[in-house]
Amino acid sequence: MSVQISVLVQTPAHSPLAEPLTYQSELPLAAGTLVRVPLGQSETLGVVWELQLGAAADPPPVPHKTIKPITSVLEGVAPLSKAWRQMVAFSASYYQRSLGEVALSALPPQLKSLDATQMQRRLRRKPPAASASQDAQAAESSPSPWALPELTPAQAEVLQRMDHASEHPGPFLLFGATGSGKTEVYLRAVQKVLESDPQAQALVMVPEINLTPQLEARFAHRFAQLLGSRFLPDTLVSMHSGMTGPQRLKSWLAAHQGQARIVLGTRMAIFASMPHLQLIVVDEEHDPSYKQQEGARYSARDLAVFRGRLENAPVILGSATPSLESWHHSRAAAEGGRYLRLEMPDRVGGHSNFPLVRRVDMNHQPKGAVFSQPLLQAIQERVARGEQCMILLNRRGYAPVLQCSDCDWKSECTHCSAYRVFHKIDRTLRCHHCGFTERVPRHCPACGNPDIRPLGRGTEQLEEHLSELLHAVARPDGSPVRVARIDADTTQKKGTLESQLASVHAGDVDVLVGTQMIAKGHDFRGITLVAALNPDGALFSSDFRAPERLFSLLLQAAGRAGRSPDLSAQSEMWVQTHHPQHPLYAALKAHNYPEFARQQLAEREQSALPPFSYQALLRADARTQEVAQGFLSAARLAATQLPAAEHVSCFAAVPLTIQRVANVERAQMLLESTSRTALQHHLSQWHSLLHALKKDPAHKGVIRWAVDVDPLAI
Ligand code: ADP
Ligand code: ZN
Ligand code: ZN
Repeated sequence: MSVQISVLVQTPAHSPLAEPLTYQSELPLAAGTLVRVPLGQSETLGVVWELQLGAAADPPPVPHKTIKPITSVLEGVAPLSKAWRQMVAFSASYYQRSLGEVALSALPPQLKSLDATQMQRRLRRKPPAASASQDAQAAESSPSPWALPELTPAQAEVLQRMDHASEHPGPFLLFGATGSGKTEVYLRAVQKVLESDPQAQALVMVPEINLTPQLEARFAHRFAQLLGSRFLPDTLVSMHSGMTGPQRLKSWLAAHQGQARIVLGTRMAIFASMPHLQLIVVDEEHDPSYKQQEGARYSARDLAVFRGRLENAPVILGSATPSLESWHHSRAAAEGGRYLRLEMPDRVGGHSNFPLVRRVDMNHQPKGAVFSQPLLQAIQERVARGEQCMILLNRRGYAPVLQCSDCDWKSECTHCSAYRVFHKIDRTLRCHHCGFTERVPRHCPACGNPDIRPLGRGTEQLEEHLSELLHAVARPDGSPVRVARIDADTTQKKGTLESQLASVHAGDVDVLVGTQMIAKGHDFRGITLVAALNPDGALFSSDFRAPERLFSLLLQAAGRAGRSPDLSAQSEMWVQTHHPQHPLYAALKAHNYPEFARQQLAEREQSALPPFSYQALLRADARTQEVAQGFLSAARLAATQLPAAEHVSCFAAVPLTIQRVANVERAQMLLESTSRTALQHHLSQWHSLLHALKKDPAHKGVIRWAVDVDPLAI
């Protein structure tokens, strides 16, 4: 006599198969068990699910004869824990996606392609047990006794306050200046949970893949020393999208089976199965990379807070420029704050003061100047002394537009409402939105004029320009100045970013030019001057989060300067601006994030923007704007009928800033409410109406639609 079980399988985003499917099994199977099941003509991975958890309604009764039996159980892999299942259920419901999609995309892709026999073989492959990693061997054989660095008073106090869970269990917002030693706090917090319980696991998240190797090396080094021969190859594993299928499966299994004591990863790691999870760290918690931008558009930072509460594990959010959401949540408890704010305002050792911020009023410089005279002079002086400089410009390529000197022609992309960027290195025009690339035409395609000119500047041109400007300057040893560039164009090949960063660290580069890619996280030791050439754009952006991102970027960038105690020169952060009196730059000059946050939160409160309200977007893509907006307007009308409608404002449909990409017209509609519960309630009821609308022949031109809850860009 067989039993009926419910199983989640990977379902297309908006298919009606969104809920668990029913199968037969010889034996009852625990929820969370991984199984292989027949689906249509093929066979797929599934997760046994309890119906109470997140399913909208009981599935319609199925006549017994038609229920298919499962194919097999993935033996040897323990069921996914209740907490993991609860997190998946929460994510699916909060971010308005199907359970099957969220559950299955949280598992490593390779797990889906192995059948039960292959899985058995995979599991029998034991990790090389006794051969500890090189670091561990080095630590064991190292003759000199090894000691942990002595904590600074600020670090010691922060750790001590985190220990008093009875007073405040967290989440903790570690508000620590760049270079204040936040990583050491993470290391100690992880060490403490690992020492307190031989099974305990810790999850440490970083925003970007290119920051993982650096942090991984630091963690591996520390824990190899601490654990000695108990530091096995699987003790510390990574999880990010740059890994191969087999690597990801290996890390996932190590975490799921408990061998991995530390999991280090990007946003996807928030879904790692960790049965003994006891600590979550989110480094640079303000970083927009924690928000997934397709499928289930989850915020890994927010899910970390949810998961910590669910699993009773403390959560540490760390940043020098916290998100205004987290900052607001960490206001005094008496004012309703839920997070505990812990501060480390000073750099370790106090050796290097924070860089001096210098604003150059570009209104007093020749029109169109890229480098103001004083900045150029400062760069020349520094490189002549053998110091390094970093120049930021948030635009890659040679010039953002090519223009005909005679007629109106500009290098528009034929598929997008955007200009194609001129890349001089291969003389191409490239669209940064759809990828459409062509050779630069010899003559204006409109009037035949051979004189077509670059308009504006990108990093490629800056590199060239700077090499010319510094031509006459020599380094202390008399050799010529070396200018290098790091951006998405120079780092396409695997390994190039690492080698380029290494040459900066080695001092082989005097002036580094790049996009925001180089502004974050890197522990450059020789840089004493950082300059942002043209940051004003974000001051007057229609996106209310633009100033927050700008302030954070500039403060992070400033944090790259003056990190070495050996450099006696006062380090500097230069900002070229047409608005030197802007309060954002004043707060930057004072290194005063709290003041900046106060200004911004006051503005947000006045306009009832997040964190004082909650938002969601409905987006639609279609061949024409009319069709896309037609769908959104119909959706808006449908929403007015819903019970929570009076608590949710629903704005009119508008085209996206870049309205057309790859010949697809894009539109969106904003929903806003002062109550998160009301908004959630509204969205969940709206969802089935949206499915129905999409099926309506009137909207058959809609290519896709999606809901984005707590969107980062409006
Ligand atoms: P943050 O992550 O806050 O920017 P880091 O953790 O990278 O700062 O620390 C900055 C520098 O100070 C690093 O080189 C680190 O090794 C060093 N450091 C951190 N804590 C200590 C300490 N207690 N004693 C000595 N050096 C420390
Ligand atoms: Zn022309
Ligand atoms: Zn394009």
